[in-house]
Amino acid sequence: MEDKSDQKDPGKDTMDRKYWNSHLQKMTGYTFGLQPEITADIVKLNSNESPYPPSPEVLEAIRKAAGPALRLYPRAEWDGLRRALSREYSVPEEAIFCSNGSDEFLSLIFRTFAEPGNTACLTNPTYSLYRVLARAQGIQIMDVDCDADFRINFDELLKRQAKITIITNPNTPTGALEAVKKIEEFVKIRKGLVLVDEAYIDFSENPTANSALRLIEKYDNLLVARTFSKSFSLCGIRAGYAFGCPDLISALLTAKDSYNLDTLAQAAAEAAILDINWMRDNAARVVRTREASRKNFLDLGFGALPSQANFLFVSHPKHDAGKLYNRLLEKNIYIRYFPYSPLDRYLRVSIGSDKDMERFFSALQEILSSEATG
Ligand code: PMP
Repeated sequence: MEDKSDQKDPGKDTMDRKYWNSHLQKMTGYTFGLQPEITADIVKLNSNESPYPPSPEVLEAIRKAAGPALRLYPRAEWDGLRRALSREYSVPEEAIFCSNGSDEFLSLIFRTFAEPGNTACLTNPTYSLYRVLARAQGIQIMDVDCDADFRINFDELLKRQAKITIITNPNTPTGALEAVKKIEEFVKIRKGLVLVDEAYIDFSENPTANSALRLIEKYDNLLVARTFSKSFSLCGIRAGYAFGCPDLISALLTAKDSYNLDTLAQAAAEAAILDINWMRDNAARVVRTREASRKNFLDLGFGALPSQANFLFVSHPKHDAGKLYNRLLEKNIYIRYFPYSPLDRYLRVSIGSDKDMERFFSALQEILSSEATG
């Protein structure tokens, strides 16, 4: 299996890399979505951000926290936030970890539970940052291709040995959700740690029932990660949270930076949990727009996988995905295109507000009809 972190040949860039460690010398970093300056004519649907603002309670909590107390270090073990998470999700505090965005947690699991030379098992496709973070720490990647309809191939995963296996549920860039029963069967027989990354679970039809969270009480090799970025509309704050048995959480506490989550982020995240209905209402709006958008794609002749996340993964049998991406970009509409096989036939479109999606679809229609006549 081709290793996507070497897509851009590191030998061809202009850096001589002579002081870089040997892992980094052989790889390239994460390719993030374009970040244009946001003006009225930009429609940004490329990073699965929420189109809705964070709760007013969150903004008030940040304002309150932004005072003289900033001279003090933040709470090292996120007391208020951890307590709020514990109450909301009925998980003891010692089974909860908080991180500077869930990306930090992803980096930390490799540092905590693996060493250079170990193997991490990933599904293909999935979130491309995992491999970058693992490889930067000398961990080898074993990819297991999803089925033709992008379902995770648990039987194949079980055939591979790995120190850490990551299941993204719902997965990205597809939005496909696996049944928690299947995940439990896998965790039960898997030797080695399993991380279920639930960054998008709040957009699924029943987040409580679809989550692997309750399994942490039964399995000591399971971690479940979530983020405040997507459903809580807090990408700009950098806060993530994760659940696992106290032994795993204790290892993470041993390995973490002293004050990994700043005071403003802790205040914001705690307020977001205390006002969780704000998030639920917004997630429900995103789901309604997602379903209407999927129908629009199908009406325009696209294939659009059913999605349980805040994005759709689509392809058109007659129109080249890369070309569509570029033509949308010319119209200031930003979506995501992955320029490598087999994803290069698809486009990932984050769900924006109804107004964003109207602009998106009217631009798309214009492009499709000009291509058909041109
Ligand atoms: N997991 C998945 C599957 C994601 O797509 C993302 C965001 N791109 C993250 C984790 C990271 O989220 P955060 O903003 O909390 O670092």
